[in-house]
Amino acid sequence: MGRPLRHTATLHTDVLVVGAGPAGLALTLMLLRSGVRVALAERSTSFRRDFHGEILQPGGQRILDRVGVLDGAVRRGARELAGFQVRSGDRVLLDIDYRRLPGPYDKLLALPQAHLLEELLDACGRYPGFEYLPGHRIGSLSEHDGRCTGAVVNSSLGARRLWVRAHTVVAADGRFSKTRSLAGIGAGRSDLFDQDVVWFTVPAHGRSTGRVRVHRAGASAVLVHDTHPDRLRIGWTLPHRGWQRAAERGIDAIRDELAAALPEFADLLHEHLTSLAGLALLDVFAATAETWVRDGLVLIGDAAHTHGPLGAQGINLALQDAAALHPVLVDALDAGDFSRRRLAPFEAARRPAAEAVTRMQRLQAKAFFGAGGAVGEFLRARAAGVVTRTPIGARITSRVAYGPSAVDVRDELFGRGAAVERGAA
Ligand SMILES: Cc1cc2nc3c(=O)[nH]c(=O)nc-3n(C[C@H](O)[C@H](O)[C@H](O)COP(=O)(O)OP(=O)(O)OC[C@H]3O[C@@H](n4cnc5c(N)ncnc54)[C@H](O)[C@@H]3O)c2cc1C
Repeated sequence: MGRPLRHTATLHTDVLVVGAGPAGLALTLMLLRSGVRVALAERSTSFRRDFHGEILQPGGQRILDRVGVLDGAVRRGARELAGFQVRSGDRVLLDIDYRRLPGPYDKLLALPQAHLLEELLDACGRYPGFEYLPGHRIGSLSEHDGRCTGAVVNSSLGARRLWVRAHTVVAADGRFSKTRSLAGIGAGRSDLFDQDVVWFTVPAHGRSTGRVRVHRAGASAVLVHDTHPDRLRIGWTLPHRGWQRAAERGIDAIRDELAAALPEFADLLHEHLTSLAGLALLDVFAATAETWVRDGLVLIGDAAHTHGPLGAQGINLALQDAAALHPVLVDALDAGDFSRRRLAPFEAARRPAAEAVTRMQRLQAKAFFGAGGAVGEFLRARAAGVVTRTPIGARITSRVAYGPSAVDVRDELFGRGAAVERGAA
C-alpha cells in the first residue's frame, strides 16, 4: 500500500466503497439506511453497461425488494422470463421452471443494469451521509500501522486528487479490481471454463422467447433471451481464445452459423447482424481472491470472486455479499474495531457460497456443453426429467434461484443514527 504523496482535498467518511456496480451500490444503500456515512468512488460517469449481466435471480430480486428499489428499477423497463431451458434442436434437454417457486419471486428478470444502478443511486442520494464521486478511479490505498485507512482517488474530469479517509475501504470494483491489486491480493484466477462468450442484441418487435434458452449447437452453444425494450439478447459460446479465428471468418459466416442454431430467429439475424462492431467479447474465467478481508479492507462481489455466465449467478452473489457485509460493518463501527478478525465473519459466511457456485458451474458446463455422444445425451435427458418433474428438481431450482445459501437483508438495522432521508421531517 503506498502513501499518498500530495492531495488537493481530504474527505472524512465512515466507509469508502470503490465501484458503483450492484455490490457497491446495494451495500452503500444498506449502510446509509443504517446511519453510516459512505463515500462511493466510481470510475465511470454513466451507467451504460450494455454487455454486463442483466438476468436477475429471485434471490437478488428479494434483496432489492427489501431495500426498496425493485419496483422502481422494474418500472424503468425490464422483461419477465419463466426460467431456463437447454435445447438440442427441437428437443428440450432441461427445463428449469421458476413458476414452481413461491411468489412473488417466481420468475427471472431481464433487468438492464443501468435501470438497477440508477434506481439504487437515486435511493442513496436521499441520505445526507452520502458522497458520490463519479469519474473517480482509485489511485492508491493509504495505511497506518498495517491497517488500511482510506484511499486516494483521482478524478478523470478535473484532474482532482482526493484523499478519502475512512475506517474501512470496500473493494467493489469488479473482476479486474484495481483495489485488490493495490492491496497486493492475488485474484486467484483459474481457467476452469474452456469457452468465451460473444454477446449482442437485435431488435425483435413482437417476437419473444419467454425464458432464457440455451441451444446446443455442435461443440458450442447459443444463449437467447428477451431483453428490454423489445430486443433479443444473444450469447454465442466459442472455444477459449477462439474469437480471433472466428472474426477472421467474417460476419457472413458467423451469421450463417448463428442462424442455423436459431432457425426461428434467422430472419432477424440476417436483417440486423451486419457487422462485427456490435459484438462484445466476454473473457470467461473463474477467480477467488486469496483473502477477502484485511485490517480496514474488504473485497466483495466480482472483486472477491468471479464466475462464468452459466446460470446467471454473478449479480445474485454480489447482492448477497452486500447483504452479508452490511451487519458486519455496522457491528465493526459500533465497536470501533475494523480489524481483520472483526470483519472475518463476512468471508466465513460467503466464501463457501461462492465456491459452491464455481463447483456447480463446472458441473453444468460438463453436463450440458461437454462431449456429445449417446451417453451424454442419455444423462442430459435424465437430468432434464429430474429438474422438470421431481421434488429434487424443485430443490435444484430453488438453489439456482437463491444460491447455495440464501441471505436476508438485516433491515432491523435501518433507521439508526443519521439515517434520515433528505427532506424528511
Ligand atoms: C457480458 C457479461 C454478462 C453477464 N451476465 C450475467 C447475468 O446475466 N446475470 C448475472 O447474475 N451475472 C452476469 N454477469 C456477471 C455480473 O455482471 C457480475 O457478477 C456483477 O455485475 C458483479 O457486480 P459487482 O458490483 O461486483 O461488479 P461490477 O458490476 O463489475 O461493478 C464494478 C464497478 O466498479 C467500477 N470500477 C472498476 N474499476 C474501478 C476503479 N479503478 N476505480 C473506481 N471504480 C472502478 C466499474 O466501473 C463498475 O461500476 C455477466 C457479466 C458479463 C461481463
